[in-house]
Amino acid sequence: MPIPPHPRTFICSHCGWQRTTIPASDAIRLEVDWFFQCPACQHTELETRPANRAEIMRERLTQFFR
Ligand SMILES: [Zn+2]
Repeated sequence: MPIPPHPRTFICSHCGWQRTTIPASDAIRLEVDWFFQCPACQHTELETRPANRAEIMRERLTQFFR
């Protein structure tokens, strides 16, 4: 059984852009579940870390109301 990747938060240290992603499966969709560059300023060295509970909760709510 595939294990879904853990929710992650991507942060651009250049402009402050931040996004939490909760992959629905192990099929990672670029620029939905994973970011290689900042969509706001095209900075390519994003910080990434496991999302914390508050970020996961907020992202779940965002998806629910989308
Ligand atoms: Zn940026």
